[in-house]
Amino acid sequence: MASEYNGSSKASESVFKIPPIKFTKLFINGKFVDSVSGKTFEAIDPRTGEAITRVSEGDKEDIDLAVKAARQAFDHGPWPRMSGSERGMIMMKFADLIEKNVEELAALDAINGGKLFSHCKAMDIPGAARNLRYYAGAADKIHGTVLKLSKGFQGYTLREPIGVVGSIIPWNFPAIMFFMKAGPALAAGCSMVVKPAEQTPLSALYYAYLAKLAGLPDGVLNVVNGFGETAGAAISSHMDIDKVTFTGSTEVGRKIMAAAAASNLKPVSLELGGKSPLLIFEDADIDQAVNIAFNAIFYNKGEICVASSRVYVQEGIYQTFVKKLVEKANAWVIGDPFDPRVNQGPQTDKKQFEKILSYIEHGKREGATLLTGGKRLGSKGFYIEPAIFTDVKEDMTIAKEEIFGPVMSLMKFKTMEEAIKRANNTTYGLAAGVITKNLNVANTVSRSIRAGIIWLNCYTAFDVDCPYGGYKMSGFGREFGLDALNQYLQIKSIVTPIHDSPWH
Ligand code: NAD
Repeated sequence: MASEYNGSSKASESVFKIPPIKFTKLFINGKFVDSVSGKTFEAIDPRTGEAITRVSEGDKEDIDLAVKAARQAFDHGPWPRMSGSERGMIMMKFADLIEKNVEELAALDAINGGKLFSHCKAMDIPGAARNLRYYAGAADKIHGTVLKLSKGFQGYTLREPIGVVGSIIPWNFPAIMFFMKAGPALAAGCSMVVKPAEQTPLSALYYAYLAKLAGLPDGVLNVVNGFGETAGAAISSHMDIDKVTFTGSTEVGRKIMAAAAASNLKPVSLELGGKSPLLIFEDADIDQAVNIAFNAIFYNKGEICVASSRVYVQEGIYQTFVKKLVEKANAWVIGDPFDPRVNQGPQTDKKQFEKILSYIEHGKREGATLLTGGKRLGSKGFYIEPAIFTDVKEDMTIAKEEIFGPVMSLMKFKTMEEAIKRANNTTYGLAAGVITKNLNVANTVSRSIRAGIIWLNCYTAFDVDCPYGGYKMSGFGREFGLDALNQYLQIKSIVTPIHDSPWH
């Protein structure tokens, strides 16, 4: 494992000059404001564990103010009343502004989230703009249907925006998470209160500023940073929020659903955790399979909900696969996320860093073999070498629980039937991968695995036009595609008698 990390941030300084942080207050009703309590919290740089700046800390009172603004914008403002194409034009402008500021936005997610700057610049931030444009294009294609009813009645349906949306998002993909919810919600004509994760508060405030520049009316997009148990809980239990969209852990998803049920019965969509399997069959091209398997778990330092943390390899190729996997791990570079030679930056925060290291210790104690990696790198910051475990048994904690970090559990299988059974042996059902050239195997396995997205001979191939979401305890509702747009719309039927119809 080639570690470039030397405990300093020198690499970043030589490669990229981090811009000053411009926005640190809450964004409510078109203005940056202090929190009611005046409280602030630190935004941390995971390369060092030190504070970058302080950000206003929103609480129940701030959520109330943001909901009031969003309610006013929805009930009386222009956004849901303008034509879909007018909304679409503003969203297109918003997307253009994101692209114009791509470097600064990418730098915010790299410095605050430990994400690779090059990836944010090439994928996450342009992906956010693409997401906005996709839904901008759909905004003027939201139609109901005409109904010819029995007994001399006719009717039609309207697809109306659901109202004020509360959006609670995690820290691993701050840009994508923000827009996979804001894109369809705004296109539908909803107004929003977004609560970013407390670990990554910075880029969301920048988006709020750009939304205003693009011409989004005040109150339509509010951003309230704060903690889950205060600001987040205030959203899920709010009586004046019409829908909550959440991405995060299964444990918190459960709380959000309970709070929604106990308050105004608002609908929720939940994108939750996963323990996704990758099944590699003997006929696979081994080099390609190693590449896919490696990136499927170690991309974004394993902090990705669909990470294939359980890798099942058919016995005939197992030994060769393991050897090549270790070679790949040895060439993997960990270090400053601004350095273009680096493959993996620091974990997002201390809590996550400690949780991952404790799972690695647990794996060793339970009898799995740590083939490579698994150690902390450097003396400051949250860097962890990617860990590969073999001799993993199905009932071990590392094979069952979501780690959300760079830890792969490698297992061997004999037959397709066995592989399907073991892949489905989880409470989760977010994603799965299959690597084979055999069409029958590919078809059977992809239809047999209970998960929201199956990647055949690839992994993490996301597209805004391709819906994804959970089966089982990975949640419900879909992100991306037109299925996501439907989650921010509701159907109203209007029925009337037809008098004197020539067809009666
Ligand atoms: P988390 O559930 O702790 O936090 C996610 C968000 O929920 C944060 O904004 C947090 O402040 C908020 N929150 C926390 N407690 C809350 C409460 N009681 N009420 C309302 N809001 C609350 O998740 P995390 O540990 O920060 O993120 C990692 C988890 O997110 C993993 O389990 C991962 O699988 C999941 N995730 C899922 C997807 C997906 O698309 N399915 C994507 C990314 C992350």
